[in-house]
Amino acid sequence: MKKQFAVMGLGGFGESVARELMRLGHEVLGVDIDENKANQLADHLTQTVIADATDDSALKEMDLHRFDATLVAIGENIEASILCTMHLKSLHAKEVWVKAITPTHHKIAEKLGADRIFHPEYEMGLRVAQTMAHPNMLDYIALGDNCFVIEVRPGEVLEDRPFSDLKIDPEKVRLLAIKHGNSVTFQPTPDYRLRRNDHLVLLGEEKALRHFTERL
Ligand code: ATP
Repeated sequence: MKKQFAVMGLGGFGESVARELMRLGHEVLGVDIDENKANQLADHLTQTVIADATDDSALKEMDLHRFDATLVAIGENIEASILCTMHLKSLHAKEVWVKAITPTHHKIAEKLGADRIFHPEYEMGLRVAQTMAHPNMLDYIALGDNCFVIEVRPGEVLEDRPFSDLKIDPEKVRLLAIKHGNSVTFQPTPDYRLRRNDHLVLLGEEKALRHFTERL
């Protein structure tokens, strides 16, 4: 279903979110105080507006309450981000998502009622560190309680061998799926033969996953 989103601030982060939402088939209104930023994206988003997102009368004209979610992607200017968030909440914007850059910024956004708060640089830093430390891990989701879902690329030594050769202990590590390009095989049978470029999607505790993937 096509949704409508608004993005306040079209810097690197706001722009990538806005473009991806368009690619996913949604409508996106992009707002930036900088004329060049707004104009650069005019042909790529549904609509762009040159406006100060801290100006409540400018925001009011955008009827933001009809959008499914509004992202505040103004980072460096914390004051502007806070003011914009405050106005969006008083204008009853449905879902207000905020990019925060410091713990204080996070706390204020939370107090103002932001529905979701991101720390893209910090979160990306953790991701990069994880993939540097575990180079065959392509992606992961932290589920909490030290449990993770990870996507790993096994070594070529496993090619054309049944996945039962992996000797997975299901008490510790679960094989959820095998990804091959865009196709996904859920819970493959033990006789499934691993192919070149297959990726394993595994669930387990960090220590068990680390032990298991070190053998791959
Ligand atoms: P990013 O980290 O996303 O690359 P940046 O570091 O380039 O961003 P920021 O200061 O976080 O820049 O601002 C992001 C965008 O928000 C910029 O394009 C900036 O012009 C815009 N912006 C800043 N203040 C406002 C405001 N009051 N109203 C609307 N847009 C704003």
